[in-house]
Amino acid sequence: MKSKNIATVNKSVCVSCGACLDACPMSAISTPDGCYAKVNEDLCVGCGKCSRICPTGCISIIKREEQQNEEN
Ligand code: SF4
Ligand code: SF4
Repeated sequence: MKSKNIATVNKSVCVSCGACLDACPMSAISTPDGCYAKVNEDLCVGCGKCSRICPTGCISIIKREEQQNEEN
């Protein structure tokens, strides 16, 4: 079953430092092309570890429904 919450990255603030990659227990974050962090929604369990470690505070934990709404 998928988690209720999910991480989302504010791309304009992310500096691609990679701290969130190391913090994620699910290996749900990647930095494609060395650019901003990207969250794999299928793997993310919404634990918030990435959000707490991010030096620029650009990761938010939101409800999955909100994430879907944002993409539409
Ligand atoms: S920790 Fe924050 S600034 Fe660093 S790569 Fe992850 S989202 Fe970007
Ligand atoms: S909320 Fe947890 S599982 Fe999801 S990307 Fe962040 S550290 Fe990984």
